[in-house]
Amino acid sequence: MSEILTTPAIVLRSIPYSDTSKIATLLTRDAGKISIIAKGAKSQNSRYGHLIQPLNELEVVVYLKSGREIQNLTQASFIAKRNLLLTDYDRMMAGFRILDWSLKIQIPHNDSASHYNLISRVLTTIDSSESIHQGLFGKFFVRLSQLNGYEPNTFECGNCGKPFRDFDRSVTVGFNASVGQIFCEACQRNQKTDIAVETPVIELISHWLYPTQQEMPATRLTTQQYSTLEHMMENHLRYHLDL
Ligand SMILES: [Zn+2]
Repeated sequence: MSEILTTPAIVLRSIPYSDTSKIATLLTRDAGKISIIAKGAKSQNSRYGHLIQPLNELEVVVYLKSGREIQNLTQASFIAKRNLLLTDYDRMMAGFRILDWSLKIQIPHNDSASHYNLISRVLTTIDSSESIHQGLFGKFFVRLSQLNGYEPNTFECGNCGKPFRDFDRSVTVGFNASVGQIFCEACQRNQKTDIAVETPVIELISHWLYPTQQEMPATRLTTQQYSTLEHMMENHLRYHLDL
């Protein structure tokens, strides 16, 4: 079985192969992650070889053959040119961190559009914002956990079921990253928790997870709180990925 696949794709990584070609991992919108070889990509005459660089978002044409681990790329052209992402050091590093997570996580082959759109959108945000928002990675991790079906439960205490809205706001919330549960002031004494989190952090995560529920307005966090949020969500993802 073989078919011609035309799809938007983000280059996640690329390595030279022989004197003339490149092998790359692409995140495609329509077929998940695939490995491709771009024959002749290093030649000066190649029309698209220079585009096969990490962070680039391209329209690609791939000759897909079932049973083959590395597919043949036959064409590529730019979809989006993100100049700051490729030239500003901090933005480039942020972009590579997104790509790194994209390489680690499972993305279903037949249902990859949501992952693709999330990652494309985050790269655009990194490129076009005045500066990288402190909450960018925290929000990315929350969305990623949701797409993969293991978002944290921020609704209620993981032990007694007390709703988060009734938690004592003057006390920190206990969070267990391996199970993705929060624990109320009473239960965190005898439950395993990895990190103490201030309540606005949980409010913001809830807002991102369930934006239509008006009881959780978007909260602005302090630098320290954004950092806590990013840390707890990254740990939560690591547990689920066995990293
Ligand atoms: Zn409790």
